[in-house]
Amino acid sequence: MQLGARLSMLNALDIASIYACLFLSLLVSASTMAVVWRTNTDEPAAGYWLLAYVLGVVAAAFLALQEILGSFAPALCTAVVITSNLGMIAGFRAFNGHKTPTWPFFVAPFVYLILAGAAPWLYSDPNMNALVQSLFVMGVAFSNAHLVFNGAGNRALPMAVPTSIVLVVHGIIRGFVVFFTLTQPAAVINGRMEAGWWKLFLLEIFFNTTMMAISTVILIKDKAEKRHRIASETDDLTGISNRRAFVKGINGVLPDSGPDAIMAILDIDHFKTINDTYGHDAGDKVLIDFVKTTKLQLPTSALMGRMGGEEFAIYLGGKGYDHAAILERVRRKIEQTSFDYKGAPISFTLSIGYVSVKTVGKSFDHLFTAADYAMYLAKKDGRNRVLAYKPSMRIREVMDDNLMTAGVFSEPTMISKAV
Ligand code: GH3
Ligand code: MG
Ligand code: MG
Repeated sequence: MQLGARLSMLNALDIASIYACLFLSLLVSASTMAVVWRTNTDEPAAGYWLLAYVLGVVAAAFLALQEILGSFAPALCTAVVITSNLGMIAGFRAFNGHKTPTWPFFVAPFVYLILAGAAPWLYSDPNMNALVQSLFVMGVAFSNAHLVFNGAGNRALPMAVPTSIVLVVHGIIRGFVVFFTLTQPAAVINGRMEAGWWKLFLLEIFFNTTMMAISTVILIKDKAEKRHRIASETDDLTGISNRRAFVKGINGVLPDSGPDAIMAILDIDHFKTINDTYGHDAGDKVLIDFVKTTKLQLPTSALMGRMGGEEFAIYLGGKGYDHAAILERVRRKIEQTSFDYKGAPISFTLSIGYVSVKTVGKSFDHLFTAADYAMYLAKKDGRNRVLAYKPSMRIREVMDDNLMTAGVFSEPTMISKAV
């Protein structure tokens, strides 16, 4: 007894109707992808997948119109299926940021058609035609599953794993088709295969086509969403976290931070002078190079963000580090570095204020305010220095203000030239 023959529902389904459904589902897939591509023109995968679905529509039309198109229709169908599958691969490659040359799209179907012309048994026996297509599609399905599962960053996309599972299952089912065409070839009536297992398989193609259309659309949307989220959390100029993302990141780690974790505020000394002397572009370049140089001095567990302008924040929470020594190393490194702008050497210094969790607790606002205050005093004390926040600093500030009011100081404190 052939697989599926006992299922009365399958007996009621006729193959021509399944072909018509397949045609319509591919038409819906192609139309949906066309809309997605229009709104995601920067995602080349959408273009390749649209091509794949349009060719799928053409292949299904060849199958549905077999009687009209004559005996070469199955070969044409297979040639189009091959090109359509190459479109799917190119789409997954593009999704991972890889280019695909165009020649396989022409050469592969051409080679197949030459072979089919030379050996008509490749397509004139529908079981053999199904076998050839299945072998090819099986390889493509596994390769696509590999591409979507292993593509850099893909696993952070919610649809990546389900899509790779759908593809692996499709590949396995195509393997069954190879098995059945060899062991239980379907009867051929009016040039069409008639067998329960073949109907089941056509239903699977119908299911797979629909799943792939939905999956690829969601993958593109997931990726676009991820890109927008990253852009909204990244400082355009330096590529590190912006203020919002830094605050979010710190609030995520603070509950687990130890008493020695610190928050530091770094402010470039006399940065305005750099802009005024060398121009705004030089200032931009200095900010970029400053971030690169500073990051190299930090442990990998450190978090760094740009708070705005030439002011940066660093959180050091790693255990077993001397955090004050790390900040002093950063200060010294910047002091000793000659930054280059179009051949002009630019040097500057840093004022750093910091505070530990043990001093003011785990509130971001308290840490930020205290570190910023210590940085302000570091500026006041002459810049190019690292200063730890101590609660007694407030008293000093009040005393300074009183002495100024009394006319003892005319300026807050000495200001040294750092540039
Ligand atoms: P201080 O030592 O007191 O910190 O002096 P400063 O000159 O560094 O500080 P001030 O706040 O007076 O000036 C900061 C300057 O940084 C002013 C602003 O034009 C410049 N700036 C802010 N953001 C950018 C940027 O993205 N690119 C460039 N090139 N300049 C910027
Ligand atoms: Mg400054
Ligand atoms: Mg500043």
